[in-house]
Amino acid sequence: MNEFDLIREYFTWPIKDPSIALGVGDDAALFSLEQGYQLVTTTDTLTESVHFSESTPAKEIAHKSLAVNLSDIAAMGAKPKYFTLSITLPKIDQSWLKEFSDSLRELSGHYEVSLIGGDTTRGSLNITITMFGIVESSKALTRSGARPGDGVYVSGMIGDAGFCFWKLSNGLITSNQELKRLNCPTPRVELGLKLKNLASACIDISDGLEQDLSHILKASSVGAIIEVEKIPISEVLLSHINDTSDWSIPLCSGDDYELCFTVPEGNQEALKKISESCNIDITRIGVVTESLGLQTEGFDSPRKSYKHF
Ligand code: ADP
Ligand code: MG
Repeated sequence: MNEFDLIREYFTWPIKDPSIALGVGDDAALFSLEQGYQLVTTTDTLTESVHFSESTPAKEIAHKSLAVNLSDIAAMGAKPKYFTLSITLPKIDQSWLKEFSDSLRELSGHYEVSLIGGDTTRGSLNITITMFGIVESSKALTRSGARPGDGVYVSGMIGDAGFCFWKLSNGLITSNQELKRLNCPTPRVELGLKLKNLASACIDISDGLEQDLSHILKASSVGAIIEVEKIPISEVLLSHINDTSDWSIPLCSGDDYELCFTVPEGNQEALKKISESCNIDITRIGVVTESLGLQTEGFDSPRKSYKHF
């Protein structure tokens, strides 16, 4: 099997979206954008030993590669539409490729995003997805709109992915459910779209709540106070924190891909409706302040969110 057979077999899927004039197979893809919309684009790379281990199943690598990109589009309040896949493989392993491709296709079908191109090369396993989304012009949810007095909110539960990673790093046994929280995050696409007209700023939590919220604060030239005890965490993580008195996992560990966002006061009812319609818990963990910096009440965090360098 050569590179072209591989692309045809595993990464050329029927195109259902009428806005795509040309997908995989030419020198580049072509799609048209409706008037009044802006194109939103993001890219993320997953590398073995950094983002997943040698033992991570192909289907989970595929899931995470796509989910982290969908999460960035979600954090912009945009609708994901198209993506490209650049994959570097050490060798052609057809059963690995089938598992990877099936999983990628399933998740992309669920979010109605189309694979429109990519690149295939040989080397250490590395997956780069570039995602394109659309948003009504000037409506994108950025990091820079938070204002003093806005509430600080998070979706879902924080820290499960980090807790699983911590367990793995310490040689502890992890359940399949825990591994799923680390390797198969759920991108909050529907929530992002609904928050677009309500939130003042938004980010997805990829590197750790403290660091990611700080990006909002910096971009908005504001500060915030959050109460660590308000951060929504699972019971197992809570009992770990009770044992160690250490809130570093929910504050500083990444990979949850929940949304952290700020909302002007007085929107509680609207937020409640969004939470119900998306079937996702939304929790207020603090407030935006005029004085700069992030204060974490209840735990003086050691500040060690993930940084590559
Ligand atoms: P070129 O040499 O012009 O870059 P390629 O041989 O890399 O062309 O790719 C041929 C076609 O296959 C292009 O449409 C490209 O977008 C697509 N393609 C290559 N690799 C992948 C992949 N992993 N997934 C999806 N499409 C791919
Ligand atoms: Mg190429």
